[in-house]
Amino acid sequence: SLPETEKTGNRVTVFVRVRPISKKEKEADSRCCVTIVNPRDVYLTEFVNPNGYLRLKRIRRRHFTFDACFPDSATQQEVYSTTTSELVEGVLQGRNGTVFCYGATGAGKTYTMLGTVESPGVMVLAINDLFGKIKTRSCDGNYAVHLSYLEVYNETGIVAAGLTQYRVYSTDEVMILLQQGNHNRTTEPTRANETSSRSHAVLQVVVEYQVRDAAMNIIKNVGKLSLVDLAGSERALATDQITLRSLEGANINRSLLALSSCINALVDGKKHIPYRNSKLTQLLKDSLGGTCSTVMIANISPSSLSSGETQNTLHWADRAKEI
Ligand code: ADP
Ligand code: MG
Repeated sequence: SLPETEKTGNRVTVFVRVRPISKKEKEADSRCCVTIVNPRDVYLTEFVNPNGYLRLKRIRRRHFTFDACFPDSATQQEVYSTTTSELVEGVLQGRNGTVFCYGATGAGKTYTMLGTVESPGVMVLAINDLFGKIKTRSCDGNYAVHLSYLEVYNETGIVAAGLTQYRVYSTDEVMILLQQGNHNRTTEPTRANETSSRSHAVLQVVVEYQVRDAAMNIIKNVGKLSLVDLAGSERALATDQITLRSLEGANINRSLLALSSCINALVDGKKHIPYRNSKLTQLLKDSLGGTCSTVMIANISPSSLSSGETQNTLHWADRAKEI
């Protein structure tokens, strides 16, 4: 096996972010089942409701350790700085990096990745940071930035209008393009939720950096940053059951399962990683494992109403951390 220093490039860093309890969860009188005891450790408490009594009974506590756990008070900037800013620096130096948000629908993936106009998320903060850095370094060489924004839906990639391999020059321009790309996901609440729970949104930023060496030869570095808002993970679980609702369900499952398979193969140190099994893993084949940095943000709700989903998400994240 490789010496420890060569392994570090392979490691996946895994984070957990707990979103604030929602009005609906509060009104349903649900209990908080997630406790962050220190910056790295989180406890999940499972409750049962014996004989339908109102009072919930605590049955079990599970403990998980991650690279960092973000409480519901964590800001978008904190989440960005801790999880992704290092990858942005790497991309400028010609390395690849990938950030995933994983979790059930409603757990806070899109908030973390895209955010709102007032509180922009990882995608926007990363691009902003990238352009800021390029601006201060542009005297050293020539940078070119290309973006693509894809929605992988039903195993087909849908290219958001105006964003395929688009050469961009500023953050404002990107914001406008991202908003256009997310138009369908955000303007119609009901449909948007339907679609976003079934599709994976993938933003890829390719940074090309040209510089001349002492002999005036052009040296070209290319780095790629992939930011992925995954489909709701509950779909992957639902299809474990015998009733496969539709081909569509199977296909969503295929991308998430294929991603899990790739992660498992990487965890086990396999030579063959099955990237070709789904559209999503094909898109990410040069951005997972190897010398790429991978970041996983597991999004969870604090409410006991979602403790089953939360447990599954934390288990998945726990497994990913072994890569
Ligand atoms: P997902 O994309 O996982 O389905 P969303 O990101 O759409 O979930 O989040 C569900 C709801 O919770 C949204 O209304 C979102 O604005 C809100 N929300 C999620 N995370 C946070 C957070 N950290 N702070 C405030 N509101 C949040
Ligand atoms: Mg979403």
